[in-house]
Amino acid sequence: MSAKKYVVKIGSNLLVDEKRKVNTGIIEWLAREISSVGKHQISCVVVTSGAIGVGRIARGVSSSKLNMRDKQALAAVGQPELMSYYRDVFAREQLDVAQVLLTNEDFASRSRFMNIRNTLLTLLDYGVVSVINENDTVATDEIKFGDNDTLSAHVASSLGADTLVMLTDVEGLYRGEFLTENLVGTVTKITPEIEKLAGDKSGSKYGTGGMASKIKAARIAVTAGVRTVLAKPSDGLFLKIKNGDAGGTLFLPSPRLDSKKCWLAFGAKIKGTVFVDKGAASAVLSGKSLLAAGVRNSEGTFRYGDAVKICETPSGADVARGLVNFSSEQLARIQGKHSREIPAILSDATGSEVVHRDNLVIIQAR
Ligand code: GLU
Repeated sequence: MSAKKYVVKIGSNLLVDEKRKVNTGIIEWLAREISSVGKHQISCVVVTSGAIGVGRIARGVSSSKLNMRDKQALAAVGQPELMSYYRDVFAREQLDVAQVLLTNEDFASRSRFMNIRNTLLTLLDYGVVSVINENDTVATDEIKFGDNDTLSAHVASSLGADTLVMLTDVEGLYRGEFLTENLVGTVTKITPEIEKLAGDKSGSKYGTGGMASKIKAARIAVTAGVRTVLAKPSDGLFLKIKNGDAGGTLFLPSPRLDSKKCWLAFGAKIKGTVFVDKGAASAVLSGKSLLAAGVRNSEGTFRYGDAVKICETPSGADVARGLVNFSSEQLARIQGKHSREIPAILSDATGSEVVHRDNLVIIQAR
């Protein structure tokens, strides 16, 4: 298998132009870029939008307001057509493609998460380029990623990718007007100030993303240890990224999380929230297990082994995700108690930590 993996996200605004035509030029460019880094032991996985946009063109639908049923149906029309562009264009670069359609729910179950990971890794072994989109036909609002930026970050973290490249129609993130001197070159930490630069949340006519969703996705990726680049397509871009001089905006990664912790941080369905005092929050942030003594209260109904959110109280700061060793009912009885008191309160307790440090993942502080 190749030494490095890039996940490349390409949005509808780049794939479908204002004249309502599919921009095959950008798919040709992408194939050339993937082929050029392939010679340097870098394999790529593509996350593509455009199914709905291509479906609209195919069906001659011009209305900019579409309801969920229309979007789902148009995605079903557009997706195979979109794939046929990828298949034909990539074949000219001797690249084979595979279609992978995913929903948010697929990442929530640990076994499905592992299946996704294993399939994508096997396709990489085959030398086949996975072309991933959200499975719009089955994804309703409640279970949707909502935008492919977030999906690409989940894919990158599940794969332990080296780099997530989010292609944009501007050079990157700007402080103010789109002038070269305003371009943010490197982001070491995604602060509220950086989030504010993303401005309004709206996407383009054909896509749902926008800069805000790119920053949200970058946060997921860097927390998982994936370096993230926002850049405009240009010839030789991927080789420049390899050499560390891509231009655009580079988000530096945190230390890498293993696959189980990535799942816990971003995939697992959160069943409740455990509120802890400042001391316990600092202990967790420094890598220690969460003990009952530091727990103030909890919200939600959860069982042994469920994923919970850990927040500091009273600040409400999001601290970590963890797999809990007690049900919400049991936790209510032992919160604030010293570990040695637990056996007397709960005769069936299997351990003393509320969340063991091996089952904890810290969420990058906001
Ligand atoms: N999955 C949608 C599509 O292919 C796009 C979602 C997005 O714009 O991010 O059309």
